[in-house]
Amino acid sequence: MQATGVERRAEVVRAAVAAGLVGERRVAAGFLDVDGVRRTVASLRAAFGGDAPVLHAFAVKACALVPVLRLVADAGMGCEVASPGELALALAAGVPADRIVLDSPAKTGGELSRALELGVAVNADNLAELDRIAALRAARTTSSVLGLRVNPQVGAGTIGAMSTASAHSKFGAPLRDPGARERVLAAFDRHPWLTRLHVHVGSQGCPPDLMAAGVRAAWELAEEVNARAGRRQVTSIDLGGGLPVDFGSDEVSPDFAGYARGLRAAVPGLFDGSYALVTEFGRSVVAKNGFTAARVEYAKEVGGRRVALTHAGGHLATRTVLMPDSWPLRVEVLRPDGTPSTAEPVVHDVAGPLCFAGDLVARERLLPRIEAADLVVLPDTGGYYTSAPWAYNSVPRPAVHAFTTVVDGRVRFAEVRREQTLAEIVAEAGGAHADALVGLGRDVRDGGAAR
Ligand SMILES: *Cc1c(COP(=O)(O)O)cnc(C)c1O
Repeated sequence: MQATGVERRAEVVRAAVAAGLVGERRVAAGFLDVDGVRRTVASLRAAFGGDAPVLHAFAVKACALVPVLRLVADAGMGCEVASPGELALALAAGVPADRIVLDSPAKTGGELSRALELGVAVNADNLAELDRIAALRAARTTSSVLGLRVNPQVGAGTIGAMSTASAHSKFGAPLRDPGARERVLAAFDRHPWLTRLHVHVGSQGCPPDLMAAGVRAAWELAEEVNARAGRRQVTSIDLGGGLPVDFGSDEVSPDFAGYARGLRAAVPGLFDGSYALVTEFGRSVVAKNGFTAARVEYAKEVGGRRVALTHAGGHLATRTVLMPDSWPLRVEVLRPDGTPSTAEPVVHDVAGPLCFAGDLVARERLLPRIEAADLVVLPDTGGYYTSAPWAYNSVPRPAVHAFTTVVDGRVRFAEVRREQTLAEIVAEAGGAHADALVGLGRDVRDGGAAR
């Protein structure tokens, strides 16, 4: 059974309402389809099957939840991490160090030392970081595979903030600036242990042919490095992630098979077994395997438009609320018990609970007339949504539940992350230091007054 289609989502929400996972008391929750994630990972592995050994590293930021990382690892993936926190999550999920890749543009000396000590693969962002790695490496032995991220400067996609291979992107060592390619080649001459090239052209909004052009540039550079070295110095190529997701329908388009076919056509040498490959897909693994459900608290008419005040807002759909044109989401309306609403369609703004006017997940959208206590569903939010909450207004992070139906067709849930408690919110907001400011300098002040 596919976790696609409003009927399917409604079936899961009905079970969730019956189980008390969403409704009057638990006003919002994320849901992740375990069977769907397994199928998607299997399709990724099948798409890249062939002569070249491949490590598919899941981009942890897409769904930074330990049980999910354990699931994708169980399905055959490693992890791509970009901070000490993400590395800790991957290790907590039991992902072996040699299946973890560390990328990020501002790694500290401490982070780099720890990665080398663990044997985690590291992609340097720039030549200065490479010099730092060289110094650390001289002082210890390490099993880490070491690479350099390059920016092929092939151009931007439709979302500027998601385009990492534009002329001025902050990521990687540029290849097309004057003298830049020569500097990169010289770095490979200088560091014979540098054996990997990394490229990540962008996320959401970058068409697959632009991604393939970036990968082709990395492959051409690898061939050039190896020709200069007179040996196979570069032994692996990390292709990055970034396959876009269709947020407008239940279609999986593009899919991994199509992307891999395009890559085989654009860069045939990539797949002949002379290079080991790494991929770093995030959104395309999880987005369409998850959705968010939230309760409608009130509905009212404002300026001739119906406004639904729901618990789906910027705290769990941050990008959609802050950049509505780049990150539109579909909205589905269910009755309080989870059955699809058949009410007459009217134009709505679907608002969240936050105290700022832009907290809308949909504007002027024709939807079945929403009533208080209905539920709204946001499809395609399995990545970068509920799993990446925003603490604005101290609204609790919603719970995330995973579900399966493989055994007997009945929906079974497992808690991935429980809802944040008010005590946790207070603790994270400095609750243990409540007196710290009014008390600051008191000893001196009181001492002075006594004198
Ligand atoms: C974000 C990121 C990814 C994953 O991108 P998706 O669009 O989620 O596939 C992979 N590699 C790097 C370096 C990233 O920054």
